[in-house]
Amino acid sequence: MLDLLNLPGIEPVDLRSENGSIVIAAQYSLEGLPICPSCVQPMYRHGKRVTVVADTPMQMQPVRLEISRPRFRCGACGTMDTPELPFLDERRRATRRLVDAIRERCLSMTFHAMSQQTGLAVNTIKNIAHDLIADLERTVRYETPIIMGIDEVMIGGAYRCVITNLATNNLFDMLEARTQQHLKPYFAKLPNRDRVEWVCTDMWRPYKNSFEAYLPNARLVIDKFHVVRMASDALEAERKRLQAKLDKDDRIKVKKSLRWLTLKRPKSLSPTELRALDAVRETYPALALAYDFKETFYRIYDDPDKASAMRAFEAWENCIPASGLDEFRSLARTVRDHYADIFAYWDSPAQITNAYTESLNGLIKIANRNGRGYSFEILRAKALYAKEARKVGSVIRLIDGGRPGVPTTETRKPVEYGPHIPTLVAMSESGQLD
Ligand SMILES: [Zn+2]
Repeated sequence: MLDLLNLPGIEPVDLRSENGSIVIAAQYSLEGLPICPSCVQPMYRHGKRVTVVADTPMQMQPVRLEISRPRFRCGACGTMDTPELPFLDERRRATRRLVDAIRERCLSMTFHAMSQQTGLAVNTIKNIAHDLIADLERTVRYETPIIMGIDEVMIGGAYRCVITNLATNNLFDMLEARTQQHLKPYFAKLPNRDRVEWVCTDMWRPYKNSFEAYLPNARLVIDKFHVVRMASDALEAERKRLQAKLDKDDRIKVKKSLRWLTLKRPKSLSPTELRALDAVRETYPALALAYDFKETFYRIYDDPDKASAMRAFEAWENCIPASGLDEFRSLARTVRDHYADIFAYWDSPAQITNAYTESLNGLIKIANRNGRGYSFEILRAKALYAKEARKVGSVIRLIDGGRPGVPTTETRKPVEYGPHIPTLVAMSESGQLD
């Protein structure tokens, strides 16, 4: 029979199809009798042993090997021996090459699909994935970001902490929770933590309290998008309050829903919306006022100069009337509470903030597939070790002693920043992180 197995030491003797699997019977190829290590004399055959293991799929079907091995016995001392099969995985009823193939793919496919392809139990796939993750955890090290983003994503009903490299737009790490008990030990152990120069976060106090003791050179800047979003939320609250009071005819007069007021900046309003805005100004001046407060707040960030931005904020704050616009008054208080960290934006390098917050929504989609029973550890690994996304943006850097232009294996060291967020998002959208 043609050796379609290509496994050393065994040869196929029979092949049959059984319940959608290919079953291959194989025999140990005997080359002489083994010698007893203690007595140094040939042993004799003493029965056989059949081992059933899973192997890499063929013709899109799971493969099971039934390997028959002779057992040997020493006539002098009675020692029993069965020849070893080095191509078998020691811990699973599978060939090493199958386990390797599963490790290659298990973070980019569902465990269920992997189980169907290989004939192994879902739990076995899960265990192989956990071993792989432990290996990755030990061996993969991403360069500590100089400009670090810290944010949260809702995964499996809980807020998880997502740490990014804002200069390169890579995912750096994900933590199970965003409490100080999780964050403090993390920052305490972070390699090269003196590298971090800027940390961009929202107003969640535990972030600041967690990292400030451990990142000696880091300055905090509150993420611009988190700040301006509060102005949008304040307007949205006013809109809902006012619109609820309108009767149907009045509502249609201005436009059925005024939600666009919250969502759009003036330059992106359509001619119809501009006319509606004029109608709002005439009919509902209170709502128009709220809109103007939102807009003026957004424009603070357009100011290129810090001192001038601070004055613009003060002028804005002073215009808030003594009653009404409660959400805007509360926004002003929040800005005062985080004043230095919010205005640190004007001292920070240009890259800070931007597209990144929006990109995180892509990661939420991975999270939403949590229904498949993935643990946080698996979800984290699927994102953090996504192969294709890791290839983007990694560079080869010459380490000390290397001369530029003279690459040798000793002087070159790959530097990885982590998976590239836009690539990761594209992968998650096309199901490659399932
Ligand atoms: Zn012996």
